[in-house]
Amino acid sequence: TSASIGITMGNGDYERPEDIIRDADTAMNRAKAKGRARYQIYDVEMHASSISQLELETDLRRAIERQELRVYYQPIISLQTRRITSLEALVRWQHPRRGLTLPGEFMPLAEDTGLVLPIGEWVLRTALTDLKVWREVGFKDLQVAVNVSVRQLESQDLIGLVKSALKDTGLPAQALQLEITESAAMHDVEQTAKILDVLGKMGIDISIDDFGTSYSSLGYLNRFPVRHLKIAQTFTRNIPDRRDDTAITHAIIALAHALKLTVIAEGVENERQLATLIPLGCEYIQGYMISRPQPADAIVQVLNESPKNLKIRELPSQLN
Ligand code: C2E
Ligand code: MG
Ligand code: MG
Repeated sequence: TSASIGITMGNGDYERPEDIIRDADTAMNRAKAKGRARYQIYDVEMHASSISQLELETDLRRAIERQELRVYYQPIISLQTRRITSLEALVRWQHPRRGLTLPGEFMPLAEDTGLVLPIGEWVLRTALTDLKVWREVGFKDLQVAVNVSVRQLESQDLIGLVKSALKDTGLPAQALQLEITESAAMHDVEQTAKILDVLGKMGIDISIDDFGTSYSSLGYLNRFPVRHLKIAQTFTRNIPDRRDDTAITHAIIALAHALKLTVIAEGVENERQLATLIPLGCEYIQGYMISRPQPADAIVQVLNESPKNLKIRELPSQLN
């Protein structure tokens, strides 16, 4: 157990005790947001920002019913076949005033407030519905990869939800990949193992996302029916220039292969990164070099261009 502490100074400006408590509470929430188990001293700027957080929360509650959420898709390609094997579903929020908003700006709040449950369900159902259309127009083996949050693992009937979403779209379990971050998976290992076991047996492809960025207990990795490790962009970003990140990338790929898992490198932006990953036997890549995340209506074109437009064709000798 740890404690997060908010402190406000009684400076004579306060007239009512409630106001002192309110400001200390605001400071405490800031301490939690900064990673918990710390203290934070209140300042006036926090009041403004807590009001804007509150507004954001109110807006987010309505975002689904107002149809402001969007799913963007980013291709994952196989380095062996140079084809798009799957599309990662990444949520966006078309906010009426803020414009197109990235998940980093609202998913932490969604996680804190529990709104991640309806959002996660909506993303899963939307992604499968879109996939069904792409499979029907000819991309028969295409998969979608959907991110699962720690809350969904803990409090939602994830298995029931997945079954129902597959049933409603008539897609086989093999069409779906679920991405679980390392930290989410480790949060409650027993519970995660139970849920993933059922999902894995159904035939769903499970990936550990952002591998290497948090505390990972390698011994547990074996207990989850995982198929892929996704190397976090924090490592791929700096290869081959930074020796430590390059060494970590080597180690993750070797570990994955020793455990008979395949590797998806995220955040591949240029050919130098690619040229480093290929000889290591990395199986899949994802990143701006191939395509940025795109709205659903742009995806058929992306799929049709693949693989002839993929810039990795420029590296034939290293690929063979
Ligand atoms: P993630 O699952 O690790 O997704 C990869 C992130 O890297 C995406 O950011 C993607 O746009 C970005 N990215 C991909 N290629 C490149 C590249 O070459 N260079 C750079 N600099 N970035 C690249 P995005 O879309 O902002 O999503 C951030 C995170 O939000 C995701 O990280 C995921 O953890 C979370 N997220 C997104 N959608 C959902 C969702 O539907 N449910 C849940 N629970 N989390 C989601
Ligand atoms: Mg992901
Ligand atoms: Mg990731």
